[in-house]
Amino acid sequence: MNPAQPLATAVAVQDGEIVKVGATDDVVALRGPATDVVDLEGAALLPGFVEAHGHPLFSALTWGDPVIDIRAVHTPTYQAALAKIRRRVAKAQPGEYILAVGLDPTLHVGMREPTLDELDELAPDNPLSVTYFNFHGSFLNSKAIEACGLDRRLTPDFEDLIIRDSQGRPWKFCENASWYARDIFFEKCGKDRAVRELRDWVSKYATAGYTTSAEMGMVPEWAGYFDALRQQETLPIRIRVYEQGFLDKPYVSKLGSGDDHFKTIGIKFWADGSVFVGTAAVTNPYLNTDLTINKLGLPRDNRGQEVYTREEQKRLMEAAISQGWQLAVHTQGDVTIDVTLDLFEELLRAFPNANGPFRLEHCTMMRPDQVERAHKLGLVCSFFNPLAYYWGDPMREDMFGPEFGEEILPFGTATRLGMRISYHCDSPMTWPDPLVCLYFATTRRTQSGTVLGEGERVGIGEALKALTIDAAHHLQMDVEHPALQTICG
Ligand SMILES: [Zn+2]
Repeated sequence: MNPAQPLATAVAVQDGEIVKVGATDDVVALRGPATDVVDLEGAALLPGFVEAHGHPLFSALTWGDPVIDIRAVHTPTYQAALAKIRRRVAKAQPGEYILAVGLDPTLHVGMREPTLDELDELAPDNPLSVTYFNFHGSFLNSKAIEACGLDRRLTPDFEDLIIRDSQGRPWKFCENASWYARDIFFEKCGKDRAVRELRDWVSKYATAGYTTSAEMGMVPEWAGYFDALRQQETLPIRIRVYEQGFLDKPYVSKLGSGDDHFKTIGIKFWADGSVFVGTAAVTNPYLNTDLTINKLGLPRDNRGQEVYTREEQKRLMEAAISQGWQLAVHTQGDVTIDVTLDLFEELLRAFPNANGPFRLEHCTMMRPDQVERAHKLGLVCSFFNPLAYYWGDPMREDMFGPEFGEEILPFGTATRLGMRISYHCDSPMTWPDPLVCLYFATTRRTQSGTVLGEGERVGIGEALKALTIDAAHHLQMDVEHPALQTICG
């Protein structure tokens, strides 16, 4: 992946560390009594993968035992998902809080919203929460509403986020109301469970071939879990942390010890939401289809919305940039991207020595002219390829139509302009798997085999850069490792 040395034929390793990569003759000169020679017989040995955007801790909390995984990827029908929940409830201790995650209106065959009576019938003696695959909403049964105190906590800050059924009973909980119920579940599961599952998740990254990932949007309450694990063992991967940015809250991050394995480098905030709850802010409205209107419950001609006003977003960005933090902005829709580019242009003029590279995250509905503008401003994009691999078909057919649905994730345009991009799996949304990123980058095929926007395909060498050296650039690792700096220019 190093342009100064694109191919090597041998690698020397001492005490588990790579000490030389190069031509066979040069490397063989280092040969000692304990040398192993492995002939790959024509296969390729790749460097460790780097993911510039992930959430290992959030994944551990969300997916670790005892959560029931009902994702459509292996539980394809709605009835099968219900049966899985029923089997788990049958084994539960009385009063045990049960959380099922992965309900998916776009992919679960026969999906409809479970009624409160059905949820009570599913788990008559246990609190039960059934959460969407994108974590932006959940359905609670009566026991869960009671256990979380949500029957009493119908305060103004939750009012818009709690949806009532036809009998006026609260039953569907969105965004913060859903997260509130979920955090109570995490609390009930305890710290030991959190640390145990975190150990499991970071090893999932290592097993998938990653040497480095990021924890995007860390909150201080969760830092203790990483500390506890780090006291027990050395993490098998490096973690770069981005603290979650909040409006009018000063960034005083003390997360991370600052060593090579775990350190805070920046701030991440959400400028818009998720395409699947209709909150990605787009110029061309969503299609009005059975999926968008009935299953996702979106208003007609939905265009989504940004989280902040322009002034608020400017305040957030200026606070981070002026204090020397790197900044990663969650931007899904082209309307959000326009505002974010305007603000970067203004702020990078005001702070020419700011600590980049500044990042746009996901970039799902980014237009080619925006990619060009971002590149001129020196920004970099991190693309969520598995989003299109798993959900590209419904996004094209039922959400945005053939024209706009094919133009999602314009990483080919970015690569041809020379932008140093990265690809990510964004777990807990999808499992850490660099090969899914690689597959979609080089084929633009979804899991059904449909090709989305053939012109955005890239070559395998280009794609591997986005999973290794250029992802490391996003995480400022070329600053840490001077050798990489000369390579990266
Ligand atoms: Zn993310």
